[in-house]
Order: sequence, then C-alpha cells, then structure tokens
Amino acid sequence: MRIDLHAHSNVSDGTETPADVMASAARAGLDVVALTDHDSTDGWTEGSLAAIDNGVALVPGMEVSCRTEKGISVHLLSYLHDPAHPGLLEEITKAKYARLTRAERMVTLLSEDFPLTWDDVIHRVAPGATLGRPHIADALVAAGVVADRSEAFTSILTSHSRYFVQHYAPDPATAVELVRAAGGVPVFAHPVASARGRIVGESTYRDMIDAGLAGLEIDHRDNPEEGREFLRRLADRHGLLVTGSSDYHGTGKPNLLGENLTTPDMLARIEEMATGTLVVRG
Ligand code: AMP
Ligand code: FE
Ligand code: FE
Ligand code: ZN
Repeated sequence: MRIDLHAHSNVSDGTETPADVMASAARAGLDVVALTDHDSTDGWTEGSLAAIDNGVALVPGMEVSCRTEKGISVHLLSYLHDPAHPGLLEEITKAKYARLTRAERMVTLLSEDFPLTWDDVIHRVAPGATLGRPHIADALVAAGVVADRSEAFTSILTSHSRYFVQHYAPDPATAVELVRAAGGVPVFAHPVASARGRIVGESTYRDMIDAGLAGLEIDHRDNPEEGREFLRRLADRHGLLVTGSSDYHGTGKPNLLGENLTTPDMLARIEEMATGTLVVRG
C-alpha cells in the first residue's frame, strides 16, 4: 500500500485541479492520497469523484495555517473532520479573508519596486482559492523578476523580507482543539522545517499535545535528520502517530507524489480516531 497524506490542488497553492491531483496520484502508483489544501475543503467534492474514477482512495483533509504567540508559523494537518463544523469553519474563513487583504498589502509594497499589479496576481488564481505567497511568486515569475517559486521564496518573499506581511492565523493549540471538536485527526505538518523559518520549542509541543494532537509528520523533505530523531522520541513518549508525505504542489514545488509514505497501520489509526467524515473508496 502506497499512502501519501499531504497534497495541494489549485483550491490553494497547488498548480493542478483537485481532479488532476487524483489522476497524478494514480499515475504515481499511489493507493491512497490525502487532499490537504491550505485553509479550505473546497476541493473535496471534485476530488472524491475523480478519486473513484482513477481508482485511488481519497483522505479528505486540510492544512490549517497557525501562528504561535511568539510569531512562529505552524501548519496543522487535519484529516477526516466535518467540513461544516462551525468553530473550525469560522477560523479558516477568517484566515482566508485575512490572506486576501494581506496579499493586497504585499502586492502594493512590491509594486513600488517591481512591475507587478494586483490584477497580475489574481487573474491566474482559481476563483475562491486560498491566496498565498506562491500566487504572488507566480506573478513575479510571469513578470520575469524571478525564475520560479523557489527563487521567489529565497529572495523577495521570505518572512524576513521588507515586502512580507502577516495575516490572521489561530494559535496552534486552539486549532488542534477545533479539529478534534470537528471530529478530525490533527497532525503537526513538517514540524522541524527550519529552512522555512523559526521552529517551535518544547512548550508549543506540550500545549498542542495537551489540546489533543494526534500525530507528527516526520518523513517530509523539509524536516532535517536531527529533527526527525527528536520527533521520533517525542512520538514514542506520547504515543503519537507518525506520518510521511510529499506535500505535493504540482509544478509549484519539486516535491513528487509518493516521495514519502505513511504506513497502513497509521492510516488505520487515523480512520479509527476520526468521526467527522470517511475515506472515499471507489
Ligand atoms: P503563505 O502561507 O502565503 O505565507 O505562504 C506559504 C506557502 O508557500 C506554503 O504553503 C508553502 O507551500 C509555500 N512555499 C514555501 N516555500 C516555498 C518554496 N521554496 N517554493 C514554493 N513554495 C513554497
Ligand atoms: Fe503550500
Ligand atoms: Fe505546510
Ligand atoms: Zn502543505
């Protein structure tokens, strides 16, 4: 069984439609794939139909953007939650709107130094998609300012850049509680991805575990080996489940479907724990 529990479509910052992600998953030889768009479940319906057509099982999911009180960015994967749960829905809706004004502010700042307009950014984004820095990066690529998203993220769009603007995001422990309340299974995404920015310390893990954290995404290309050892010990100590995933974004990132996998027993534990919705199997 080849199981990849982290992939994005153009409902957020992936480059393929949800249906195309399912087709790509089948082509990559996956048996199971999770669709985990940032702060949105809008791809679930299209993804479910295409999963059945392509003979792959779909784990409906989401990746919630969070921020600690120290300002450190945390991504929380949610699997099999009820997408209509009011508390969780309210938080992600707030974040989605905040992302819109934040992107506009970043574009205003960038337009002072680069040939970039708001129109350039939104005309290539799918309607209703969760807007992020990757979409601004795409417009900068089209304008010839950078070669690709990766170059944009190591130069103009880093969190230290003078063009960077924050957006509203819930605290990670609050997000864990909301995912649980919605019947979902909360898993800390790429927890030690130090190249992306500052990483959290012991107290954040403690708060998230106390709030009901279920697992850690350990096998992910952005987690350095030293960090993985720390995460394995933490998972052992607290009985957390562990996952491995690609974090596929279509052509938006080099990450390939199936480059990291999750074991069938871990998926079984996720399904046992969840009460919000079911895995889609054709
Ligand atoms: P935002 O949530 O808008 O602040 O943007 C962060 C998003 O950018 C994350 O979802 C990542 O998937 C994406 N991202 C981060 N680093 C890179 C990179 N080097 N290349 C492409 N996308 C990236
Ligand atoms: Fe992303
Ligand atoms: Fe992430
Ligand atoms: Zn992701």
